[in-house]
Amino acid sequence: MKTAVIGGGWAGLAAAVELTAAGHQTTLFEAGRVAGGRARSVDVDGRRLDNGQHILLGAYRETLALMRRVGADPDRLFDRRPLQIIDRSGFRLALPRLPAPLHVAWGLFAAKGVGLAEKLRTAWWMEGIKALRFQLDADVTVSQWLDAAGQTGRLRRHLWEPLCLAALNTPAHLASAQRFAYVLRDSLGSPRRADTDLLIPKVDFGQLLPEPALAWLAAHGADIRLGRRVETLQPTPSGVDIDDEPFDAAIIATAPQHTTRLWPDMSARYDFEPIATVYLQFDRHTRLDFPLLNLDGPFGQWVVDRGDGLLACVLSGHGDWEHLDDAGLATALQRELQLDGQATWYKVIREKRATFSCRPGIHRPGEITAHRQVMLAGDYTFAEYPSTLEGAVRSGLRAARQLIGQSPAASW
Ligand SMILES: Cc1cc2nc3c(=O)[nH]c(=O)nc-3n(C[C@H](O)[C@H](O)[C@H](O)COP(=O)(O)OP(=O)(O)OC[C@H]3O[C@@H](n4cnc5c(N)ncnc54)[C@H](O)[C@@H]3O)c2cc1C
Repeated sequence: MKTAVIGGGWAGLAAAVELTAAGHQTTLFEAGRVAGGRARSVDVDGRRLDNGQHILLGAYRETLALMRRVGADPDRLFDRRPLQIIDRSGFRLALPRLPAPLHVAWGLFAAKGVGLAEKLRTAWWMEGIKALRFQLDADVTVSQWLDAAGQTGRLRRHLWEPLCLAALNTPAHLASAQRFAYVLRDSLGSPRRADTDLLIPKVDFGQLLPEPALAWLAAHGADIRLGRRVETLQPTPSGVDIDDEPFDAAIIATAPQHTTRLWPDMSARYDFEPIATVYLQFDRHTRLDFPLLNLDGPFGQWVVDRGDGLLACVLSGHGDWEHLDDAGLATALQRELQLDGQATWYKVIREKRATFSCRPGIHRPGEITAHRQVMLAGDYTFAEYPSTLEGAVRSGLRAARQLIGQSPAASW
């Protein structure tokens, strides 16, 4: 089959690899000059940076499997660490290298800055959610869910709310409790200890997947068209015409606001949340105690140590930071970091539509359309997860497997 994949983000790359491996003659259309979409590398002032700082978890199984398949070794490309959440208020939760679920129980009881009664209440609550298989009766906001569970203490402020904002890029008072529960199921609630590990990229994003995937696709005969924006897609009796070129089938793997232009039947409409990444270059010997720290505001949420004195501060979701210009933001973040010395260089990257706003009850269309030779892929189509790399990769695999005629996967 001659199959087109429109969009070379992580969803489109996953779909293209899966189709090509199954023997399809694949053409990948990507509007940008590089692949990777929202998770791509960018060149700034002679440096290779990421379009935004990303964090992965050990639970990103399909993403890690895809990397291995195209020859990118996650063991070499990530700094893998047991989860730690540390902030400057004295709060610290560190998971030990014990088998699951002991590691979470131990981490919770050893957490610093939280009283025993609250720890017991939380352990009890987590057991209850597990017994319900992380399935809520009705989707509500994370704040409502935590209120109902009596999670109103320090763990809410220093663990659940920051985790919710990091995972869903949507603040707790707006975020979907059901999507958050699924994130907890596949991380803290997973029977595999390694699923809770933090994976901090050691290299730029291009090297993690987009570049090895393009090389793999080219080596396996796929036709890769970068810098090529598709303008029209028209179903025909025998398949689909893309800018008047005939294909047997197509996967539209673009972000939802772009999908509606090509496929007006895709009826889901979203609010979006922004993310800013503020890169600050300090003296090359500058080091954080742990490569990922919770900044705890007022503007920044996390800071990641990229090595050689380069720090990446992450500002998730709408907030007052949007009113500051780049210089003001860089100054504010330096103040929040409280490090010795001044940054000698900075770069602010703002993504206005970084993710869809992951609220209760939003419509997720899935991969199937009314036309059986046209599939959708992209983080927004994978209903269980918020906007994440793993959701994007799984969506691409699902769409491709529908066309190949395989079941998406027994496990998901
Ligand atoms: C700053 C930032 C930080 C993030 N942090 C994290 C994180 O820590 N962990 C995590 O898991 N996720 C994170 N995410 C979310 C993650 O990046 C996305 O969920 C994922 O990249 C979405 O991939 P996608 O393939 O679905 O869509 P996209 O990446 O949007 O890919 C769509 C592609 O389609 C192309 N395209 C659009 N229209 C056309 C057309 N007409 N013709 C051809 N090509 C077209 C676009 O150029 C783009 O390359 C973050 C996102 C941002 C922006």
